[in-house]
Amino acid sequence: MTEKKVAVVTGASRGIGRAVALELAGRGNLVVINYNGSAEKAEEVKKEIEAAGGEAALQQCDVSQYAECEAFIRQVIKDYGRLDILVNNAGITRDGLLMQMKEEDFDRVLEVNLKGAFNTIRFAARQMLKQRSGRIVNLSSVVGLRGNGGQVNYSASKAGVIGLTKSAAKELASRGITVNAIAPGFIATDMTDALPDAAKDALKKEIPLGTFGRPEDVAAAVGFLTSDAASYITGQVLCVDGGMAM
Ligand code: NAP
Repeated sequence: MTEKKVAVVTGASRGIGRAVALELAGRGNLVVINYNGSAEKAEEVKKEIEAAGGEAALQQCDVSQYAECEAFIRQVIKDYGRLDILVNNAGITRDGLLMQMKEEDFDRVLEVNLKGAFNTIRFAARQMLKQRSGRIVNLSSVVGLRGNGGQVNYSASKAGVIGLTKSAAKELASRGITVNAIAPGFIATDMTDALPDAAKDALKKEIPLGTFGRPEDVAAAVGFLTSDAASYITGQVLCVDGGMAM
C-alpha cells in the first residue's frame, strides 16, 4: 500500500517509456515499469529512479496478451491498493511495403500497439472507476494521422489508438477519468535509430522545427496530461512532433 499516486508505464525499459517513467517518478508518483524482453534495462531505469529519491517497481508482461495484462494489473492493485495513471507506451514496428507485407507482421503490430492498449485499459479502468478518478495516456504517432509508405500496419495501429482513446474518453468521463493520446513525430530512440542516414536527412526536411525530438519532449507532455493541471482535458490528441502534422 502507498500514499503516493501509482503510475503504470508500459514499455518503460527503453526510449520514450523510460523517459516517461523518470518524469512521472520525478513528479512524485510511484512508477511501475513494465517491460517485455529487456529485464536488465528495466532494472537500470528502476535504479535511476531510486537514485533520484523516487519509488519504482518492475513488472514483466507482454501487453499483447490479454490474460497476462489481467494478471499484471491485478498484481499492481494487490501490491499498492490503487492505480491512478496508465501510460500505454509499449510499441513495435515491422515495416514493409503493402504488397510485400507478411500477414504475421501486420497482426503482430496490431496486437502489441492497439490490442495492448485495450488489454491494459480493460483492467486498469475497473480500478479507476472504483476510485472515480484516473489518467490514461496512449502513445499514437504522427503517422497515425498522416499515414506513411512502408508502415500500413504501424500507421493503422496508431490511427486505431486514436479511435480507442476518443471512445474510452467518452465512456469514462462521467467517473472523472481522462483519456488522451500523444502523437509524437520522429523521436531519437532505438526505433528510429534503425533508419538509414539518408532517410533520416529526408525526414528532417519534413519537420518544421528541423530536428528529431528527444524522449524527454514526449515525457513532458505525458507529465502534463497526467497532472492535476490537465483535469479538464480529455479525448484529445496532442502532437509532439516539431510541427510535422500541421
Ligand atoms: P523503443 O525504443 O523501440 O522501445 C519500445 C518499448 O516498448 C521497449 O521498452 C519495449 O520493451 C516495449 N515493448 C515492445 N513490445 C512490447 C510488448 N509486447 N509488451 C510490453 N512491452 C513491449 O520505442 P520508442 O521509440 O521509445 O517508442 C515508444 C512508443 O512511442 C511506441 O508506442 C511508439 O510506437 C511510439 N512512437 C515513437 C516514435 C519515435 O519516433 N520513436 C514516434 C511516434 C510514436 P522490451 O525492450 O522490454 O521488449
